[in-house]
Amino acid sequence: MDALGCALLPAFCTLCGSPLPQLSSVPICNACWTEFPVQSGPSCACCGDTLAAPALSSGPPVGTSSAALCRPCRLAPPPFVRAVAYGLYQDRMKQAIHALKYDRLHPAARRLGRMLAEAIAQLAAEAPAEMLVVPVPLHRSKNAQRGFNQARSLAAHALGFLRKTHPEWRLTLAPSTLMRLRATESQAGLTFRQRRLNVRGAFTVSDPSAVAGKHILVIDDIFTTGATARAAAQALARAGAASVWVATLARARRVSNTGGFAVAYDDETEDNPGLPGNAPGATLQGASVFSSHGQPSF
Ligand SMILES: [Zn+2]
Ligand SMILES: [Zn+2]
Repeated sequence: MDALGCALLPAFCTLCGSPLPQLSSVPICNACWTEFPVQSGPSCACCGDTLAAPALSSGPPVGTSSAALCRPCRLAPPPFVRAVAYGLYQDRMKQAIHALKYDRLHPAARRLGRMLAEAIAQLAAEAPAEMLVVPVPLHRSKNAQRGFNQARSLAAHALGFLRKTHPEWRLTLAPSTLMRLRATESQAGLTFRQRRLNVRGAFTVSDPSAVAGKHILVIDDIFTTGATARAAAQALARAGAASVWVATLARARRVSNTGGFAVAYDDETEDNPGLPGNAPGATLQGASVFSSHGQPSF
């Protein structure tokens, strides 16, 4: 099956279209692999979001402990300890995740899994020595439609790498831990608050006794507002998890306008089938993400 798959793949890079020097099971050229955008500058100590200059200036004086937290994390502390990501969800990263999810470019999962492993490794110094690794599940109907869960695939590959680089770290894949109760609507174009409401109560823990007292690492492909991560972590915490951590392959960059209040997310999230009508970076009309009526949901 693999050999057949290789033979049928085009000898052009899926991402940039340049000819590949040799037939590869992963039709992405080396140049593209080096162009995955990384995050730079100061970031939130909890969710890892980039701390923009306006957020810093409107926050407490530099030097206080909360200065390193973004505004959403200050207003509503997430039910997870820390979220890390490998790179930004844009350009080559965005293309590669799309290729994996919608074009079923399974061979890319291994290389992307290595990137996820690098993100997880950022937690090595502070995270517990033993953790259950829980991919964010798709709803049954979506899983049937797509045929696989990219978060689970990425997690499995990442653990393969981490077993070599961090053999002492006891990370156990527990893919059936979380269940998605309902098929949530596409998150694209929703505000921070709408996203939270959209996924609130979307997850449940299949066997709470398997989670009680355990440290959990939640895995997903994209971290946008953190609404999905919060909902998953909330379900795990309710089941008695000792702590919840989050690692994703990519993080959507928050695009602030001049006022710093209306915020769009350059993402399509895991629930968007990528239809032409759902253009990435859909702006939120008049949305005030941090509006006063947007009380913390968690
Ligand atoms: Zn390329
Ligand atoms: Zn934050």
